[in-house]
Amino acid sequence: MAEKLKGKGVISGVAVGKIMLAGQNLDGYLKDYKPKKKIEEEKKVAADALVKVATNLVKTIEDLNKKDMKEQAAILEAHRMMVEDPAMSGLIDEKVDETSSAPRAVLDAYETQAKMFEQMEDEYFRARAVDMRDVGKRIAKFILGIKEPEIGEGKVIVAGMEIEPSVIAGLPSDKIAGVILGQGSTTSHAIIIAKTRAIPSIVGVGDAIEKMADGDPVIIDGETGDILIRPTATERAEYDVKIKKQEELKAHYAELKEKPAITTDGQTVVLAANIGSPADVDAAANYGAEGVGLFRSEFVFMGKTDIPQEEEQFKEYRAAIEKCKGHLCVIRTMDIGGDKPLPYIQVGQEENPFLGYRAIRISLQREDLFIPQLKAILRAGVYGKAGIMFPMVINVAEFKAAQEMVEKAKIELAHEGKDYSDNVQLGIMVETPAAAVMTPILAKYVDFFSIGTNDLVQYTLAVDRGNAQISYLYNHFNPAVLRLIKRTIESANKEGKWAGMCGEMASDPNAAIILMAMGIKELSMSAPSIPRVKEKIRSVSSIEAKEILDKVMEMEDGDEIRNYLKTIKTI
Ligand code: PEP
Ligand code: MG
Repeated sequence: MAEKLKGKGVISGVAVGKIMLAGQNLDGYLKDYKPKKKIEEEKKVAADALVKVATNLVKTIEDLNKKDMKEQAAILEAHRMMVEDPAMSGLIDEKVDETSSAPRAVLDAYETQAKMFEQMEDEYFRARAVDMRDVGKRIAKFILGIKEPEIGEGKVIVAGMEIEPSVIAGLPSDKIAGVILGQGSTTSHAIIIAKTRAIPSIVGVGDAIEKMADGDPVIIDGETGDILIRPTATERAEYDVKIKKQEELKAHYAELKEKPAITTDGQTVVLAANIGSPADVDAAANYGAEGVGLFRSEFVFMGKTDIPQEEEQFKEYRAAIEKCKGHLCVIRTMDIGGDKPLPYIQVGQEENPFLGYRAIRISLQREDLFIPQLKAILRAGVYGKAGIMFPMVINVAEFKAAQEMVEKAKIELAHEGKDYSDNVQLGIMVETPAAAVMTPILAKYVDFFSIGTNDLVQYTLAVDRGNAQISYLYNHFNPAVLRLIKRTIESANKEGKWAGMCGEMASDPNAAIILMAMGIKELSMSAPSIPRVKEKIRSVSSIEAKEILDKVMEMEDGDEIRNYLKTIKTI
């Protein structure tokens, strides 16, 4: 029997490979290392290594950018800054004085910084401790002359308590089959990269990681979180059946790619992608995405030590819009605050960050950030079809104020003689109950609504979206939530505007049926979910969908609705 472990499946798919342990142990190398006789010479060894590693990183970043792997490039760019940070060279010198060993000093210095990150309250910053250690190790390995391990034949499943993002970023897609992470963070850079590459992944395995050895054959199921180390032939055969089905499903989904999302009697809906960088549009197109319903522009701002200027933003937005090839590309203005802080925007300590200074509230007060972003999007709009979407709006006044900012941005562009589009649609995320209730009025002003169920569910039900203890209450089928959604869609349709959805509910095929019946015009989701949603839509008629919705709206309980929808058999 295999050794069986369980974690939390975060990226679905069954994968087979051999374990490659991330977090190589350097102890043996450090013991054999011969430092220079004079301490100053040893300091120079460390200083030279910093320069060399930074130069190598610049080359790798250029290569990644050429391949349009922007997300990986941005992470390594942050690493480069950690290498070149003047504070680090001072700290390394101090550590050389203490240890007389350049590689030891580098590891100790970055470990000190990593510990500092770990103390931080915010999960995003805590996860950056891994990046610090990754950088320290990279430099130490350079000094010790350690080459990366050969992968050899077959695919690997990378496993580690913490996995350095550079490990995942550096492995080619035909070599990496899966990821197993000991700690539970889904916002770690390793998982962010795995998501954009649709690599089956499991997190939160804990100390059980120690039961795995380099080269162990392993099977993982990214849906259930099951891990089988050293599977028997019978177990392997069992999973081979699953993999075969997965391959068949993939082939079937590939066939669906060019087909429209249309009910059996002709009601259509646009299936679009949620993205974090222009590179994601290419991956999304492989799943048949028709444009972008949510470009989370805060990703353009993250991983940088300084505010990206108008020009830099313009390039990113333009690339995404061009890649949409005539389909609409909706760019959400930065949704900072809440769970997404930035080092260069001081939000300060807040009792309730999710109810605090965030998103449109920051943008409206910080013209210095908002206007350049709006100008960048308006300019990029010349290269295709663009939409601007404001997050966290709670009233008409906020939308009007944002609209005024757009006008101001246009005036500035006109003065500067820069080209911009006058046809950019303006819409809002409906992700607060206040906005949802006010949609009959808001619909008179906006061009579109996009329902953000991730937040709408949490604010309507007063259930923190990230709190596992109360996750049983977090249900997008809750009747209170459904009523707000229905109201929003109907309000838009009544005013001749369109309503879409970009929260996670949009990727639930069972939800798609009732959303279609409510009259939704667009569903935007992480691209790998598109085929199963499309399949569901193609299997019902609008009349059936309407009957199902009528039944659902009579039900009193979210779990009852969820279970009922699961039982619906469509063709
Ligand atoms: C949402 O709230 O549904 C949404 C799409 O925004 P985010 O998940 O970025 O908060
Ligand atoms: Mg949101």
